[in-house]
Amino acid sequence: MEALKPAKQFREEECTRCGMCFSECPVMDLPVRTARLEIARLIAGEATRHVLRKCTSCFACDYVCPHGCNPAELVLQRWHEQYERHGLPVRAIYYSPHETLNFRTYVVARMPAEEREIIHAWADRSPSEEILYPGCNIITAPFLTRTRALEGMDIRGTLDYCCGETYYRMGPFREVKGVARRLEKYFCDLGVKRVNILCTAGCNMFLNVLPAFGADFDFEVRPYLPVILERLEVGALPVSNKLEGTATIQESCYGKRLGEEYMDVPRRILERIGLQVVEESRRPGRDTACRRFPRRRFAKTTGVRNDATGGVQVLPGRPLQPLRRLLHGMSLPGALPRGCGEGTGGPHR
Ligand code: SF4
Ligand code: SF4
Repeated sequence: MEALKPAKQFREEECTRCGMCFSECPVMDLPVRTARLEIARLIAGEATRHVLRKCTSCFACDYVCPHGCNPAELVLQRWHEQYERHGLPVRAIYYSPHETLNFRTYVVARMPAEEREIIHAWADRSPSEEILYPGCNIITAPFLTRTRALEGMDIRGTLDYCCGETYYRMGPFREVKGVARRLEKYFCDLGVKRVNILCTAGCNMFLNVLPAFGADFDFEVRPYLPVILERLEVGALPVSNKLEGTATIQESCYGKRLGEEYMDVPRRILERIGLQVVEESRRPGRDTACRRFPRRRFAKTTGVRNDATGGVQVLPGRPLQPLRRLLHGMSLPGALPRGCGEGTGGPHR
């Protein structure tokens, strides 16, 4: 059977077993001594007390490691080996994009009919040279596409053509390989020449992961947030209702994969629409993402948000509306229409 590996490899020969990766992990925050034991066990392929159970695959440790060893990829590799031996745990069904009942199909089944109509139109399979790939996040929040920022875009995609991000971060690489093949055929049938992607996780999958799993995409992949920023900067997307207040960005786990320039884009968009960006962390790029948000960090961010001007928390696109409500937050595609005078950017009900 073909041995599958993550898109980047753990560099064992460079690793000093210093334990910084897991002692500075924003989820586990292990004492250095424990962190050293954990990395040694992980390298030896032994059971760990913490890492294999608690890691949320946020990739922050890759940016902590002073030697560029990619410890997060070692975690993925060990999970993959585990699942090859024993299969996925039953609860993983709810995070598996191709299961009939998962955390996205649950949302779609409960959408108002008019929103379901929007995503029904995105299932069109007729040829198109340039599309906006919504990704599953936007498919579960289609009202976010009702904005001039996406005017004229031919949006195409369904939950069946998910980028496989949740598979990748759980470790079942055979599923990721299946996604690569499935998407190659889907886009080839559409005859696309350019695919624009709003979602940061999707951008990373198309640019950095799926090609490593054999996808040979015959089209340009273009992250779409920088295009929106450019339109704001040249005045093609007028800001008619500048917002007031502060915003804190919770990064997608994947923004750092796309480089600092990309991570700057949501900040510049927020500033364009009037908000002052307040950084949540002293260590940008090392945070956990919105959906893996530990309680202690929640408390810290609330501190940032509850300032005199009434700050706003902006998540870069995740569809977990209940979490957003809990945080009084919104997605970046939700904040943009407000600044452009297009209303709240919220769901119908
Ligand atoms: S992966 Fe990097 S940070 Fe972790 S123990 Fe090895 S050298 Fe240290
Ligand atoms: S990937 Fe994130 S949660 Fe997992 S060990 Fe690294 S820093 Fe911690």
